[in-house]
Amino acid sequence: KRHPIIAGNWKMNKIVREAQDYAIKLLGRIGNVTDVDVVVCAPFTALSTLKDELEESIIHIGAQDLFWVASGAFTGEISAEMLVDIACTYVIIGHSERREILKETDEDIAKKIKAALKAGLTPILCVGENLAQREEGRALAIVRGQVQKDLADLPSEDLKRVVIAYEPLWAIGTGKTSSSQDAQDMCEAIRTTLAGIAGTVADEVNILYGGSVKADNIAELMVQPDIDGALVGGASLDADGFAQLIENA
Ligand code: 13P
Repeated sequence: KRHPIIAGNWKMNKIVREAQDYAIKLLGRIGNVTDVDVVVCAPFTALSTLKDELEESIIHIGAQDLFWVASGAFTGEISAEMLVDIACTYVIIGHSERREILKETDEDIAKKIKAALKAGLTPILCVGENLAQREEGRALAIVRGQVQKDLADLPSEDLKRVVIAYEPLWAIGTGKTSSSQDAQDMCEAIRTTLAGIAGTVADEVNILYGGSVKADNIAELMVQPDIDGALVGGASLDADGFAQLIENA
């Protein structure tokens, strides 16, 4: 059976001192939680502090992006190897904010997924449709296309190490959660798409929901058969609030 994951995505928030305070507080609150894997995905500048505070703990450290080459003349970029060096075990790839604002393509994302896996990181691949696409009835086709392109020609041993986060764009930071049934339907469709690529391996892949997840709606999402956890933005920023969400999961 899949082990649930609750991952926080701080996005571009927290300076080093805030990250340190948060890590100490969160660990104090959830140091004994073992029924879910907890991940904190922080800006690059806070990762070293999280390593100091959390490396030996049950809380996993994640980054929010990487570049697909190991080292070289790529000014401003950070490689998978650099993230491993700083005790990261997870990395978010293809978040909708990067797709929309930084113009990341599915081809870029596929390369990033491969680089993460090669370095031993667990990639959290984000997929999701925007409001116009949903209203035009194209949500399923968009998400299926992202999954197929971003995970193209991965061997099944690699595919089962990928975590997928379904994050409909219209639910991100808006307070509008997808209904737990709609979220379940899409997560089930993602699993069916994976089964088309890799057969029964699809049953081992963790699929998360993201988009206005809060302490008071996490439980109804978690009971859905194809939702294995959540990727949490705003509600992960306060350590006590995030601890409460994890306890409710
Ligand atoms: P919110 O939880 O703030 O809606 O953000 C979701 C998200 O984008 C997580 O990656």
